[in-house]
Amino acid sequence: MKTIKVKNSSEEIQIGKVVCVGRNYADHAKELGNEIPDKFPIVFMKTATSMINSGENVVHPDYSENLHHEVELVLLIGSTIKNATDEDAENAIVGYAVGLDMTLRDLQFKSKEKGEPWTFAKIFDTSGVLSPFVFKKDYILTGSERIHLSVNGEIKQDATVGLMLFNTVEIIKNISSRMTLEPGDLIFTGTPAGVSRVVKGDKLSGGIENIGNIQTTIA
Ligand code: ZN
Repeated sequence: MKTIKVKNSSEEIQIGKVVCVGRNYADHAKELGNEIPDKFPIVFMKTATSMINSGENVVHPDYSENLHHEVELVLLIGSTIKNATDEDAENAIVGYAVGLDMTLRDLQFKSKEKGEPWTFAKIFDTSGVLSPFVFKKDYILTGSERIHLSVNGEIKQDATVGLMLFNTVEIIKNISSRMTLEPGDLIFTGTPAGVSRVVKGDKLSGGIENIGNIQTTIA
């Protein structure tokens, strides 16, 4: 998938970079035994080619035995920014979606142990699931929105987006101090606690209040 959809619109937007924040909810950092980042978010990348739309299947790679779901708020960038101020950062956000950052936890742990990049844990085809985006001109995030994910009807992740350690403006300010952000870039903002293993046949559904819903089946 190279373009994203927008709710109630026929507009399709080309995806640029996909930048992701790790350990941005304290309870999730704790559940994986990780330290909480204090001064700068943990940042890694996914790829445009790994993205699929809500409703399409996540294809479980046969080289992993521990595929995890991570439900996240995703930001759409609408302008070119570098070294953004608070105001630049806020203005650069033009839309929101709910996303799944599907992760091969066994590959990630192995890479971390060896001090190697965990790229292959994050970029397999179908590893990013996206709902249609809502433009900020139609809805402004308050932070009190519920974010949740269920597997086969059982609730696994349930939090509010305001629990993020780095808020959306801080995330964009920090990232833009290290790389230029451009229109079409996506930012995955991290996942709350409750990540768990999924297997073939599992049905995932989730959402963010007032933003959208997401569903996929593991194939
Ligand atoms: Zn994530």
